[in-house]
Amino acid sequence: MTLIPESSSCSGPMQHQKINLTDADVFEQEVQLKLDNSNGALSVFIVDMSGISKLFARSGSSASATFLRSIAKLLVRVCRDGDKVYRIGHCTFGIVLDGIDSVILQQLAAEKIIRLYNTAVSELESSFKGGINIGIAAYPESASNAVDLIHNARMAVEAATNSGDPYLVYSPEALSTMSLKWTIQDDLAAAIRGRSLELMYQPKFSVATGRPIGAEALARWNHEVHGQVPPSVFVPLACDIGMIDELTNFVLMTALNDASDWPDIGQRYSVAVNLDAQLLQKSELYDLIFNSRSIWGAGDVDLIIEITESALVADSKSNFDCLNKLRSAGIGVAIDDFGTGFSSLSYFKDIPATELKIDQSFIANMDTCDRNRKLVETIITLAHRFDMTVVAEGVERQEEFELLAKLGCDAVQGFYVAEPLAQDDFCELMAKCD
Ligand code: C2E
Ligand code: MG
Ligand code: MG
Repeated sequence: MTLIPESSSCSGPMQHQKINLTDADVFEQEVQLKLDNSNGALSVFIVDMSGISKLFARSGSSASATFLRSIAKLLVRVCRDGDKVYRIGHCTFGIVLDGIDSVILQQLAAEKIIRLYNTAVSELESSFKGGINIGIAAYPESASNAVDLIHNARMAVEAATNSGDPYLVYSPEALSTMSLKWTIQDDLAAAIRGRSLELMYQPKFSVATGRPIGAEALARWNHEVHGQVPPSVFVPLACDIGMIDELTNFVLMTALNDASDWPDIGQRYSVAVNLDAQLLQKSELYDLIFNSRSIWGAGDVDLIIEITESALVADSKSNFDCLNKLRSAGIGVAIDDFGTGFSSLSYFKDIPATELKIDQSFIANMDTCDRNRKLVETIITLAHRFDMTVVAEGVERQEEFELLAKLGCDAVQGFYVAEPLAQDDFCELMAKCD
């Protein structure tokens, strides 16, 4: 096993010091040599480290170079005798491994590199926050010569870095999926910045009076090539590209602005906005909410923040503290999709929620499935004991509605009573209820 760090002397077959080849050139020649002499499969791994510039700035170049050399030595441990690790860029290493002839073996090698790297980083430089990404290209599947193999592995590492994946095995399909994802991400960023997303309002109806008590704002993105992209796709994408704050800002501002134009029906009503739980921990969220409310907050409109039960469970103590802050500012808190988040009763008693929304999966067959009916009945009783309003989500049939009324459910939302509506249609519906 040999380690060839950048600018070290090498007395191997290439004699690269004499003809002033860079390590990237030497690596390419090494890969070609292996291809010429081997009749089996081999894989090229490009390992890219991020965060090194910060380390250089903080620890100085000599300490950082020592750190890099230690990492390179470590990479040697995935190699067999005779294999070498090349430092082919500032923070980039190249490795060529013989006999790796399946995706499973490539994945095992990548996982091993990541494991070794993580252990080494925690031992060598505990405060270092960088990471690594690995691009892999295989012979003969991806290319038949060294230049193309290395090029493909470089493309794969770039794709892995951009998508946040630890490693990626090159294939034309993987690359085209990635490039489609990047295009969509760019389009989403433009749509959020250009405020071209739309909001629909799905009414919640009181079971007792049959009148609307408010609506949930649901974001819609109409992509000019791909058509309607569901929020289950674009909300996580917005998180990936770090734009969930802007998306939420847009939704909050628009929903409160629209709600201030809703017709006066002689009663208070609520507008509910979905919130990604990761935002709860950000102090800017409160400015965002309080600013939107002070700009658009209309007298008769109560703001409700909906958070999914599963997101709440993740870090319940600090999430509950955040929710209490909202509660004390007079903002309602709804537990969304209740029943799907594995909550335990011990923490249920501490949730500072005003509303509980029973997930559609329990509502859908409650009139035919006795166990579901009993569950819904128990949830309603439990929520009432904790002074929460109960909303049934996704009510699609009259039988469900009638049973919910019998069980004492407070409000319903679903296609049976109304689909999500554009602002004008929602105002028309409200006006009719006056
Ligand atoms: P959710 O908050 O549980 O919203 C209810 C979803 O159920 C909506 O889907 C709604 O269109 C759908 N729905 C309503 N009634 C019925 C029904 O009777 N039957 C069926 N099968 N479905 C019904 P949508 O609009 O696709 O939203 C999906 C999820 O995306 C939402 O679930 C919410 O978690 C998230 N979401 C939507 N807009 C936003 C947003 O602005 N910000 C965030 N963070 N998440 C959002
Ligand atoms: Mg919701
Ligand atoms: Mg829901």
